[in-house]
Amino acid sequence: METFDVDVDVDVAVLGSGFAGSIAALGCHQLGLRTVLIDRARHPRFAIGESSTPVANRVLRDLAERYSLPRLVPLAKFGPWQRAYPQLGCGLKRGFSYFDQPRGQPFSPDRSHRNELLVAASADDETSDTQWLRADVDTFLAREAAAAGIPVFEGVRLGAPVRDPRGGWRLRSDPEQLAIHARFVIDGTGEAAVMARATGAAPRLERLHTRSRMLFSHFQGVGAWDDWLRDHGGDVDSHPFRCDDAAQHMLLDGAWMWLLRFQHNLASVGIAIDERRFPLEPAITPEEEWHGWLRAHPSVAELLANAELAAIPGRMIRSGRIQRRAGAAAGEDWAALPNTAGFIDPLHSTGIGHSLCGLERLLDILGQSWARPELAERLNDYQRIMFEEIALIDLLVDGCYRSLGAFRAFTAWSMLYFAAATTYEHRRAAAGSDGTRYDSRLWFLNADNPEFRAMVATLHRQIDRGRLDETAWERTVADAVRPYNRVGLFDPDAHNLYRYTVAPE
Ligand SMILES: Cc1cc2nc3c(=O)[nH]c(=O)nc-3n(C[C@H](O)[C@H](O)[C@H](O)COP(=O)(O)OP(=O)(O)OC[C@H]3O[C@@H](n4cnc5c(N)ncnc54)[C@H](O)[C@@H]3O)c2cc1C
Repeated sequence: METFDVDVDVDVAVLGSGFAGSIAALGCHQLGLRTVLIDRARHPRFAIGESSTPVANRVLRDLAERYSLPRLVPLAKFGPWQRAYPQLGCGLKRGFSYFDQPRGQPFSPDRSHRNELLVAASADDETSDTQWLRADVDTFLAREAAAAGIPVFEGVRLGAPVRDPRGGWRLRSDPEQLAIHARFVIDGTGEAAVMARATGAAPRLERLHTRSRMLFSHFQGVGAWDDWLRDHGGDVDSHPFRCDDAAQHMLLDGAWMWLLRFQHNLASVGIAIDERRFPLEPAITPEEEWHGWLRAHPSVAELLANAELAAIPGRMIRSGRIQRRAGAAAGEDWAALPNTAGFIDPLHSTGIGHSLCGLERLLDILGQSWARPELAERLNDYQRIMFEEIALIDLLVDGCYRSLGAFRAFTAWSMLYFAAATTYEHRRAAAGSDGTRYDSRLWFLNADNPEFRAMVATLHRQIDRGRLDETAWERTVADAVRPYNRVGLFDPDAHNLYRYTVAPE
């Protein structure tokens, strides 16, 4: 990963060495395609997007096995990760936890768990999901690519890709130290969406409902919510897992906060804000805004009372509206990875799982159809599927934002996500025709099922009409979810504490 002065001719140029770009490069290399990997940044660098899920881990393991990348297998579960790579920052994630934090009031522990929701994924710590300290994980994967013999170029400022008269794309760095002719480009540049821009496809934001903006950083010394609950008479012994070992959500008024804990007392904490209710006010600094949210939610403020910004990134980061959707996700000789095709929101931690599912689909297409006449048509399908998946994620997330402030309505709407995720997991576990466990007919989060998509869209239109009676609404959603409810969602005897929802291996 040094400075260079080169002119190369390759089959595939992967732009962006986030975890998805690096695994894409490794996969292409294993398919026998001459591959390069290029990033404008240098590892290690801060990145957000850290909470994995059962889907993400299943696909990561399957990709590692299918493309003979055994060194990636331990990353798919907490126990093996700890033994193989203790140096890579990681956190234990047993599931999702949610706590209702009304504005201006302390959290009020309730023995019947009416204001909390815990959904366990895995049965134990050993097989558990993880929080990825992305600076470490992304560095590791980029180094794996370099160790495999893939030329990895970091710190490169690319000019806009242009069509090459020989076919494919011409990529040049600015200043001109690097020139690449690539037959195919995989775009993993995220927000930059280099290829969609190069092809002139305008972003299609108007298709998205969710409107949220982010305020976040990494912190040292965040308190344990499990301790807070214990100290205030909460019934934590009934929890299916320690509620801090989770993608932890504090539901605020018009926003929600995530807390993802890594080892060594480090945590990723951020607030995802409904910008319809709280538009960004540039006159207020990110720090002032952060403290304003804490003041309005006193129990959360107690949890963060001794927290300090971690050295990296060392500041509060604030975004404008975070949703994006590129105008194109593929052409006949390029394809965008999911986070480049579009992004909705951190809610439900769909990012890593979607990235890996899309990558799996793309590698399957390239493996089967490289240089064959059907490639363009299959890439067109890839794009169509990607946009359907993004549209479904958008509805699943937006319904939650519209339910903020009504805990039962929020819980009911989240069950649509859990139904989608667990249905996808179970169908995937049952599929796998040729030993790869991959079935191209299954789309992320059950998005291949038109009835499921239509059901979510119909319910979303109802939520859009305004607040409904919470009991009636719960019943409506529970009825709609029934055909996809394999794990006892809405079971009144569960009292909002769901144990072990992951599909069997
Ligand atoms: C606030 C927030 C919280 C999130 N939380 C979660 C979560 O908890 N769980 C989850 O699953 N997902 C989460 N996500 C989504 C997650 O961040 C993405 O799914 C993930 O980062 C996608 O990885 P990637 O490798 O595709 O792209 P990225 O991580 O976006 O990497 C893109 C790479 O491209 C490089 N690049 C950019 N422009 C250029 C260019 N012009 N030329 C070359 N290189 C370029 C960048 O330097 C970077 O290395 C979150 C996202 C946000 C915004």
